[in-house]
Amino acid sequence: MDFEAVIGLEIHVQLSCATKLFCDCPNSPGDAPNINTCPICLWLPGAIPRLSEEAVEKAAMVCLALNCRIQNESAFDQKVYYYPDLPKGYQLSQHHRPLGKNGWLEAAGADGNSRRLRIHHVHMEEDVAKLVHEIEGRTPISLVDFNRAGTPLVEIVTEPDMRSSQDAMGFLRALRAQIRYTGSSDCSMEQGSMRVDANISIREKGSDQLNTKVEVKNMNSIRNVCDAIDYEIHRQIACVQSGEPIVLHTRLWDPDKHVTTAMRGKFAGPCIPDPAVPHIRITETRLQQLKEKLPEMPDQKARRFVRDYALPQETAALMSAERDLSEYFEAVVRLGPSSKTAAYWISAHLLPALKDHGQSPADARVTPERLAGLLVMLENDEINAGSAKSVLSQMFENDRTPERIVEQSGFRQVSDADALQDIVLSVIEQNPSAVENYRNGKTQAVGFLMGQVMRATQGKANPKRVQEILQKALAAS
Ligand SMILES: [Zn+2]
Repeated sequence: MDFEAVIGLEIHVQLSCATKLFCDCPNSPGDAPNINTCPICLWLPGAIPRLSEEAVEKAAMVCLALNCRIQNESAFDQKVYYYPDLPKGYQLSQHHRPLGKNGWLEAAGADGNSRRLRIHHVHMEEDVAKLVHEIEGRTPISLVDFNRAGTPLVEIVTEPDMRSSQDAMGFLRALRAQIRYTGSSDCSMEQGSMRVDANISIREKGSDQLNTKVEVKNMNSIRNVCDAIDYEIHRQIACVQSGEPIVLHTRLWDPDKHVTTAMRGKFAGPCIPDPAVPHIRITETRLQQLKEKLPEMPDQKARRFVRDYALPQETAALMSAERDLSEYFEAVVRLGPSSKTAAYWISAHLLPALKDHGQSPADARVTPERLAGLLVMLENDEINAGSAKSVLSQMFENDRTPERIVEQSGFRQVSDADALQDIVLSVIEQNPSAVENYRNGKTQAVGFLMGQVMRATQGKANPKRVQEILQKALAAS
């Protein structure tokens, strides 16, 4: 039997708001334990939650970026379950009336082609407290940190439109880029500001039946999500082939052992409308204001890059994929170098170097000003490409400007025709056999002679000039 996987994702994203969702405590879970708390987020009896306007706006931006229809009225429910990280016994979440519905995202699938994946809905909810398990002496103890309790989240629930781990990866990358553009979250799986649960089932290829699904949690990178999905698909196929039934349950991904293991079930109670939190009403006028606040998104920006900077489509897509990179690129171009040179140097040399040094475009030691300065010198033939590469790597090591590095390291290119002419003639004189080869039609000899000239100038000669002078000298000799 030939199987296919049916995959849906549930993604929790922390909103980068100043305060928590229902009180004015700072939204800063990493601070010293339990300092960002008040009667509301400690869930003390009688405390009345107040809804944060900023969280509603940031959640609405997520909905718009994911092409969801924002509902005129949405409301919070009490999702009842008891666990030590939620002592009030319920989590405030939008179960029955979510903020956004019926969204979609274009994402690259397993075959590399992009296709539209549907989003069922986006809802707001509060995060729960954090449990810390420690050993004190020989006694295991559990501590509760309420800094995270009540911080604002959105949960994005997709339709089961994905068929492979590659589909899920494409979707998550597109989702992350879209949300980062809005500034609503930094969506870092490593830092926990984006958490992904995957619902996976298998069925006979071509069937449209939805079988029992298994939920997998605890992945802390997009790579982990892919590995966990692949493992789970194989595990379920093996179950079916050996006649073992698949039952609804939750499994945890173990990133060290590369397996999923069954997790003990949590009691999940009903969802009942909350009587205290006011409903969210978004009028046509307000919706219009929100849409105007939405920044230029990656696909729009890519089209503008093609139009304004004459970039090829693929390059434009790369330069606009992440907001900080697109801003870096435009800052460089504003300072003088051509868009083509800037895009090439950013993708071929800057991005790999940033990766090696663990930096991002936003916090790069090589600022747009410095890269632009370097590229302007390159385009003015003051230095050659080889020197530019070593200036770039030196800029990652110290705080000198490219102009100073060029002066101090003597990278300034030799373009002076007389000086180059002398060097070319002496190279020709010292390499009679290469010249002989050239006369016998072996054109590769020119490359060898070029190399000798570059060596004689310690790599500083202007290669274009050398080529011209060398060709002339060879023709005349
Ligand atoms: Zn509070």
